Amino acid sequence: MNKKNAFSLQSITKSFGGLIAVKDVSFAVNEKEVVGIIGPNGSGKTTLLDIVSGFLKPDAGRIFYDEADITRLAPHQRAGLGIGRLFQDIRVFNKLTVLENMLLAQRENQEEGILTAVFASPWIKRKTGEAVYNTRYWLDFVGLEVKENSAAENLSYGQEKLLALAMILARNSQLLLLDEPVAGLDLRMKEKILGLIKKLRDSGKTIIVIEHALDFIFDASDRIVLLNGGRKVYEGAASKFHSEINIKEAYAASYAQI
Ligand code: ADP
Ligand code: MG
Repeated sequence: MNKKNAFSLQSITKSFGGLIAVKDVSFAVNEKEVVGIIGPNGSGKTTLLDIVSGFLKPDAGRIFYDEADITRLAPHQRAGLGIGRLFQDIRVFNKLTVLENMLLAQRENQEEGILTAVFASPWIKRKTGEAVYNTRYWLDFVGLEVKENSAAENLSYGQEKLLALAMILARNSQLLLLDEPVAGLDLRMKEKILGLIKKLRDSGKTIIVIEHALDFIFDASDRIVLLNGGRKVYEGAASKFHSEINIKEAYAASYAQI
């Protein structure tokens, strides 16, 4: 099989003051593949996703997406190329409705200001029509269509996560970066999100997912990257992970409580 290389990191290093958060990490993610990143607290997982989405600049190393070097691109430019980030903490506007949050998410990439919206050119009308269509499609996909007119603050925690996911999908993201998508969720919601990740992969999305819940990550991922102390200490097929590595040793004491 000769899959196209959708995304790769080459020798990424990032320090905060004297602390090395990510050290010389390289790996590639194929199109239509789910790669799970695991590792103890503080092992550099979130920092790595910040570097992929452009919120942090690496001290060294390069990032390629669809064969283009995106190392120097700003976060909004990467979002425009189809890199969508789901944050560890949820970022939705509580007082706005589900529908309004969805429309706002799609406006971030557009250049017209509020005035042009007021004057409502045919172009704006068409764009708005597309945004509403997209919104309904993705709310239906995550199962939130009945909540369209609810304020985001009235959603359950799990429903807020679904909304945040629908928001990045509505922006036509192709590479999804999911930071702990099921943390704090009950079993039913975990299974729902697991099902959505599989559906998204099958529909052609490329996904990088960080998660502490190991049963979830092994179910969701095709491949696993294990970080420890900012270094990549293992990379391999999710199905082979347990036979190739002693997870207890790999995780050491810092993961024992999880
Ligand atoms: P993980 O997501 O695996 O728990 P992080 O990537 O959040 O780990 O953190 C890796 C290391 O970098 C930790 O030691 C953390 O304290 C440190 N770190 C992360 N972000 C910052 C920051 N903005 N400033 C200083 N140190 C940071
Ligand atoms: Mg983290």
